[in-house]
Amino acid sequence: MKEPTVKKHDGTLLQIAQLGHPVLREKAHQIRDIKEQNIQQLINDMIATVMDVDGVGLAAPQVYAPYRIFIIASHPNARYPYAPDMPPTAVINPNILTHSDVTEKDWEGCLSIPGVRGLIPRYKEIEVEYLNRDGKRVKTQYADFLARIFQHESDHLDGIVFFDRLETTKDIFMEKEYQKIIARKKITPA
Ligand SMILES: [Zn+2]
Repeated sequence: MKEPTVKKHDGTLLQIAQLGHPVLREKAHQIRDIKEQNIQQLINDMIATVMDVDGVGLAAPQVYAPYRIFIIASHPNARYPYAPDMPPTAVINPNILTHSDVTEKDWEGCLSIPGVRGLIPRYKEIEVEYLNRDGKRVKTQYADFLARIFQHESDHLDGIVFFDRLETTKDIFMEKEYQKIIARKKITPA
């Protein structure tokens, strides 16, 4: 007897580690064999998980897996109404090769630090290389919000969270106050 399996995303929803868990402070391990079934399944599960929670990025240590993998899943949502739309992309063993001198401060949050937002300085433009889930080397550039996600998620692989990048604790806002700022921004044309 064969059971029909109909799944929207071929992945299992994973628990997200919260700030304070040691896995978020470890240096994650390089992936040696991307084609390994466990790694491919982890990528599927991470994509399903980040979509389920409507996130724009998720790093493997955030799901208790200490490997150098993250998902970028930028799309407009209530928290980031101006985010560019792109399909969820797996980034493996990433390196930031070069970056602009210019940094920009903008809003970030983290699925491992719910309910809090911060204004975090990041390089405006970066040149990166990484392996995709087929093991192909990708060399590309990101700017603005995508560069921000890439830097935030790369930090997770080195045990760094966005709080560590704050210039001042005065740049920490609770979600409720952040939502008020975003709502005001929406009615003010840029
Ligand atoms: Zn995060």
